[in-house]
Amino acid sequence: MSTSPRLRGALQGVPTYKPGRPAAVRDGAMSYKLSSNENPYPPLPSVLDAVSREAGRFNRYPDLFASGLVAAIAARLDVPTTHIATGTGSVGVLQQIVQATAGEGDEVVYAWRSFEAYPIVVQISGARPVTVPLTSDERHDLAAMADAISERTRLVFVCSPNNPTGTAVRRDELGAFLDRVPRDVLVVIDEAYREFVRDPDVPDGLEVYRDRPNVAVLRTFSKAYGLAGLRVGFAVAHEPVAEALRATAVPFGVSGVAQVAATASLAAEDELLERVEGLVKERSRVHDALREQGWSSVSASEANFLWLRLGERTPDFATACQQAGVVVRPFGEEGVRVTIGETEANDIFLTVAARFV
Ligand SMILES: *Cc1c(COP(=O)(O)O)cnc(C)c1O
Repeated sequence: MSTSPRLRGALQGVPTYKPGRPAAVRDGAMSYKLSSNENPYPPLPSVLDAVSREAGRFNRYPDLFASGLVAAIAARLDVPTTHIATGTGSVGVLQQIVQATAGEGDEVVYAWRSFEAYPIVVQISGARPVTVPLTSDERHDLAAMADAISERTRLVFVCSPNNPTGTAVRRDELGAFLDRVPRDVLVVIDEAYREFVRDPDVPDGLEVYRDRPNVAVLRTFSKAYGLAGLRVGFAVAHEPVAEALRATAVPFGVSGVAQVAATASLAAEDELLERVEGLVKERSRVHDALREQGWSSVSASEANFLWLRLGERTPDFATACQQAGVVVRPFGEEGVRVTIGETEANDIFLTVAARFV
């Protein structure tokens, strides 16, 4: 007989989430954190005000249904309130999606390399991850993903723009892919970086979901809206799916502070999207500078980060960045993801990159 409580076998070998390293202090100077795709701007005064008012009430449970926030999202996106399900960050919603669709004996298809939360939430559920390699130009191979769908497939993740490569799926290829997916398989378009997309050939997931009941769109307030620390995200899905997501939510998971911050952020959207525009300009500047340095392989990014496929030089590059004063996110011996941050931080990154061409 075992001497410790029995745990589910599915937990064995589940990868652990590696958060981006914090900015370290060196020689009394703070280094910049470009490792977690966060928004470098501090909270807006109007959002801070809303949060401070709400903070005086945290002896009470929050609104279980996040009604104010749901109404604001529905109005903003022009979708029915019944199509919205909120959660503790979009990773929280992702977990609800897996819980609602897949378990032991089922398969979940996604591209790899992609968002590192996917293998974690899928393996915990007991379902089998079926990963499809990215193409040589760092894009989703949607034809191969359609081929990978079997009778056991219950769920497909499409990460667009893809974390960590920054590439996004195009309207025509996504349409062709969705036409091949059986109607009883849910396709989740993870659009954590939607607000940073500028390529007109990249569809907004919402235009795709409207007449496809097996498509759900995942959005977050963590990136463009700068609320990463408050944990609030949501899915837009047709009713049976949205209802299942509400049913699998942790009761009172999204705090009152997070709810009012997200609502206030929607009210201040113009101001926030101006900041996003600044980051997009900065993204172009850094991308073009890398190209000029001779990084011919760096792909155009539709997100708030860039991807350098450095192979075995990855750890050395990350160390050199750290020594120069910026923390980036290395992925094994594959490559480095660098978040577009403050101009000074991006310049430090470029200085290091120039030495590694
Ligand atoms: C950052 C990110 C998320 C969102 O994370 P939350 O903070 O949990 O909302 C979701 N998907 C991808 C691909 C991301 O990069």
